[in-house]
Amino acid sequence: MESHRYSAAVIAVCTGGVWVKHELTYSVDTYPELPRVAVDEEIRCAVSLWAAASPRLRFQHVQNSEDADIRIAFLGGDHDDGMSFDGRGMVVAHAFRPPNGRIHFDIAEPWTIRCHEGTNTLLMCV
Ligand SMILES: [Zn+2]
Repeated sequence: MESHRYSAAVIAVCTGGVWVKHELTYSVDTYPELPRVAVDEEIRCAVSLWAAASPRLRFQHVQNSEDADIRIAFLGGDHDDGMSFDGRGMVVAHAFRPPNGRIHFDIAEPWTIRCHEGTNTLLMCV
């Protein structure tokens, strides 16, 4: 597997507003080619780190993405939000600030879990 330097990763954040509540829900709409249970666990771990850094916020995973404040998805290329991904390398994710709440990860990256090779899912989610 190809090695990937985290310092080379680019994460873009779009402009936006704020949430006016402290209890936020999140969903995972689409997944990379990894076991879904393992991806869910990595995202849960990342979310727990977000909560630890922001003690006033609470996060809850929901299955119905239509109702989620934060919608996480692994997508590729042009995915209809005006911010196409560039394939493997460079941009690995982008996010839309509240109240939009979408977080997109480039599915073309070599996503890994609990591994120092490839693009570490937990590190990129945090
Ligand atoms: Zn996007």
